[in-house]
Amino acid sequence: MTNICYADTDLLTPENALKKILSHLHAIKGYEICSLKNALGRVLTDFIYSPINIPPERNSAMDGYAIISSDIKPNQLFNLSQVGTSWAGKPFKGTLTTGQCVRIFTGAVVPENTDTVIIQERVTVKNKHIYFPNNCQPFEHVRQAGNDIKQNKCLLTAGKKLKPVDLGLLASAGIHSVKVTPKLRLAYFSTGDELVTIGRLLQSGKIYDSNRYLLHGLLADIGIDAVDMGVIADDETALELALNSAAKNYDVIITTGGASVGDADYIKQILDKIGQVNFWKLAMKPGKPVAFGHIGNCIFFGLPGNPVSVSVTFDKLVKPALLKLMGMKAVKPLRIKAKVACEIKKSAGREEYQRGILTQQSTGTFIVTSAGKQDSNIITSMSQANCYIVLPANYTTVKIGEEILVEPFDSFI
Ligand code: AMP
Ligand code: MG
Repeated sequence: MTNICYADTDLLTPENALKKILSHLHAIKGYEICSLKNALGRVLTDFIYSPINIPPERNSAMDGYAIISSDIKPNQLFNLSQVGTSWAGKPFKGTLTTGQCVRIFTGAVVPENTDTVIIQERVTVKNKHIYFPNNCQPFEHVRQAGNDIKQNKCLLTAGKKLKPVDLGLLASAGIHSVKVTPKLRLAYFSTGDELVTIGRLLQSGKIYDSNRYLLHGLLADIGIDAVDMGVIADDETALELALNSAAKNYDVIITTGGASVGDADYIKQILDKIGQVNFWKLAMKPGKPVAFGHIGNCIFFGLPGNPVSVSVTFDKLVKPALLKLMGMKAVKPLRIKAKVACEIKKSAGREEYQRGILTQQSTGTFIVTSAGKQDSNIITSMSQANCYIVLPANYTTVKIGEEILVEPFDSFI
């Protein structure tokens, strides 16, 4: 990101703020070669094509008997003599002639010139003679080579974040390592004289620092192993030192607190001196003051102090930005309509992401209710919630039974 020049907007919609942020970012350059077991959550730099057909050969979908379909007698019972067995991993090597069949198991190669598998439950076995019923269908239960994916077809696209099943997919094609985008080097710290790290005694006037643990979780959830720089006091020199050293060592730095206009909020002054950072007042609740910009080559996010504001600004602005830096394609969060089970109030002017509890009735209808108090310091309602209730800026009241859009958590990637 270079030469950011922002117009000083008054109240910026979250949508426009995200657009501005994304327009200044591109994926971190370079790549790493990663073995499959280390690749979970990593992002592919390249398209991956299958070097083989999957499955590689015709095989049986069931346990039964492989036969030649022309031996089937329509509307008539028939019998064939068993000349061998095809096991999964140990194929039957011979060739069959008319009147013969082979015992076959699921996943075993279907012998040459047979083309049908009749399941074992439908036959009667007497010595080596297999008696088939009168309604056998030709070509049943045979998986063709490449019926999952053909050789040279695209398995996964560049920008794909690998899920557990993708590791299985790549392994099924015999691929043991992949090219992925480099890990983001990210550090965060909390600011505030009132903050105490957990494990220490809480004295009067102090509170425990929740944001570093919250950020640790939010980042780990998207595969980022970030560096915790601790709590930095509301002290100009200490803050400048911390920001300068982070900027030299990391791709991204996230701070919480100290970004509004209180007397002890030094971050703005320091960043004006050492970086190019814009302080936005967002038309979003919670999360009005948010800072974005850079210090040298390091991208900077300054989030509000209250933990709920941290969660919401992270989800709405920081997470999509980090995913872009990690080389992922943009994915919009899923939004669904739900009926409101309690009256919801807000003041007009800012888009609100209230915390809600979403359930589904047996009829399929989604119902949402408030997760409790909605102030930005109420971390308990955020913890109980499983969705955001998305309230457009101009809304004031949503009555019981009315429909509203909700964003279920964990629906992004
Ligand atoms: P600030 O943005 O620094 O004015 O902080 C806003 C509010 O968030 C204040 O009530 C702070 O005490 C609180 N706050 C700031 N940082 C944290 C933190 N790391 N953990 C919990 N609360 C915090
Ligand atoms: Mg503060």
